[in-house]
Amino acid sequence: MIISMRPHATREEIDRVCERIREFGYKVHSIEGEERVVIGAVGMGDVTACLESLEATPGVETAMRISAPYKFVSKEFKKERTRIRVNGAEIGGDEFVVMAGPCSVENEKQILDTAEGVAAAGAKVLRGGAFKPRTSPYDFQGLALEGLKLLAKARQATGLAIVTEIMSEGDVDTVAEYADIMQVGARNMQNFALLKALGKCRRPILLKRGMSSTIKELLMSAEYITAHGNPNIMLCERGIRTFETATRNTCDITAVAVLNELTHLPVILDPSHATGKQSLVPALARAAVAIGADGLIVEVHPCPEKAMSDGAQSLRLERFHSMMQELEPYIKLWKESRLTAAAATA
Ligand code: PEP
Ligand code: MN
Repeated sequence: MIISMRPHATREEIDRVCERIREFGYKVHSIEGEERVVIGAVGMGDVTACLESLEATPGVETAMRISAPYKFVSKEFKKERTRIRVNGAEIGGDEFVVMAGPCSVENEKQILDTAEGVAAAGAKVLRGGAFKPRTSPYDFQGLALEGLKLLAKARQATGLAIVTEIMSEGDVDTVAEYADIMQVGARNMQNFALLKALGKCRRPILLKRGMSSTIKELLMSAEYITAHGNPNIMLCERGIRTFETATRNTCDITAVAVLNELTHLPVILDPSHATGKQSLVPALARAAVAIGADGLIVEVHPCPEKAMSDGAQSLRLERFHSMMQELEPYIKLWKESRLTAAAATA
């Protein structure tokens, strides 16, 4: 259920409504908007009786049932897009935000050179894995804490924000200390212990779609994080596994449009893992802008042939730079349509 309070509802009225919701056996989650307080009620109880009672409670404007199984992340719950402020940029707002960097942090020179290069090209966020989920236990597993420290150095040197993967609930405090955005990788999208732990921290989360997960499952995973207290989530389409072998994964580009209909959360596209081929990355990046994604996460490496992971899908710095220039006219149109859409809903 969602309960919209009247614009000038008093604190006592809001508290009374929350109390009433709890009496019916529901959990309360409230969002304090600029104009009004909106309260979400989730759990198992007598919906009809609860709605009737709330509609008669002072201060309540409307009380309605949310039909989607994901509640807090649904558009039914919140019409305005969620905006996540990182490094002066607002992801989900009026700016198309690009995150870029190597698959793995390998050494100081590699990460600093990449950070400087992607910042000069217009990226706002530096990506780089310190904890790497690898298919083979014999492959490079990442520099762990050392990698996080190198990312912090790169942030210091360039002013870029940092996005890096978190693989285990035991690492949440450590990774949160260094990262501006914590990435949940495709392989961990349904690691529910991790999702619950991330709900308890305030850092923004980049939640990647599992390689065999449906859009609904992705939204349910986001719901886990929100239901445990952290609403700062962006979703990421990174390709799914299909019968097609021409690309590493099959990019479900439509997922971006579907998510924009179903949720208020920002949507990021990862053209690197979606294709597995650097030559295909710029074309897919353009498609992401055109379909209305909020940003990109792109793998870039100063010397892809020597990369310790995902070299084949990593752009050279020069190619990343030219791709960013090629995207400019598309981003200009993107901004115009965002502003028109915002004006239409205002
Ligand atoms: C990555 O970002 O390097 C990565 C491992 O991504 P995914 O979880 O999408 O495979
Ligand atoms: Mn990678």
